[in-house]
Amino acid sequence: MDIYPVSILSTRMVTHNVRQFELDKPKGYNFIPGQATEITLSNIKWEHERRPFTFTGLNEWDHLEFTIKLYPERHGVTEQLGLLEPGDEIVLHDVWGAIQYKGEGTFIAGGAGVTPFIAIFRQLHKDGAIGANQLIFANKTQSDIILKDQWDEWLGPQVHYVLSQEQAPGFDHGAIDEAWLKQHITHFNQQFYVCGPDKMVADIKKALEHLGGADTLVTVER
Ligand SMILES: Cc1cc2nc3c(=O)[nH]c(=O)nc-3n(C[C@H](O)[C@H](O)[C@H](O)COP(=O)(O)OP(=O)(O)OC[C@H]3O[C@@H](n4cnc5c(N)ncnc54)[C@H](O)[C@@H]3O)c2cc1C
Repeated sequence: MDIYPVSILSTRMVTHNVRQFELDKPKGYNFIPGQATEITLSNIKWEHERRPFTFTGLNEWDHLEFTIKLYPERHGVTEQLGLLEPGDEIVLHDVWGAIQYKGEGTFIAGGAGVTPFIAIFRQLHKDGAIGANQLIFANKTQSDIILKDQWDEWLGPQVHYVLSQEQAPGFDHGAIDEAWLKQHITHFNQQFYVCGPDKMVADIKKALEHLGGADTLVTVER
């Protein structure tokens, strides 16, 4: 199993608790949209703590991008990632598959569960292949929506935001449950992709089973 020490080139906050990292790209290190790797920190105290994160840039770029929700209250790896600065080093591991594009359909994400869809939609947009793909993106509040401007640009009316803890014009309010899916999705004989917290993924899977959309369902639990 190979390890790839890489330098942080730049960082920026994309919401109040999500930080995007640009990193050096090791030679010969390749991935496809939706894939992930594990990250470890480059210091003795943390070097055995591996955590999975998804590539959110494109393989053809000369650098790597990750989009990472920070949980300082857990005092784990993401708290440390929040403290790193350009020039600091982290360690990447092998690339592995998490979720892969299998054709047009409906993508459903909860919070930072949207990260594999960033790379997938970035690629589709670049290839002029957004087609009828749509994204349903659940968050607690507007301030939690990762890369909203980007989604609006790529998807226009094919992105639907659902907020569980805020009511605002232009946003649906509530949870994505069976009733919501029934009301908003015209046919269930299509590809579904779901990524988010375990409970959300389990609930949506169950709802899609009832509604007839489970045969073509790809899920990733976070
Ligand atoms: C395939 C895959 C890809 C992923 N890609 C991304 C990505 O691109 N971007 C992203 O932001 N995230 C992604 N994640 C999620 C990410 O891996 C976790 O958020 C990360 O591992 C958290 O690490 P941590 O050390 O900060 O906290 P953890 O390891 O989750 O927690 C540290 C400690 O805090 C405690 N703890 C854990 N959960 C809770 C809780 N809910 N409340 C209170 N205490 C708790 C436990 O004691 C735990 O040992 C991905 C996950 C998977 C499986």
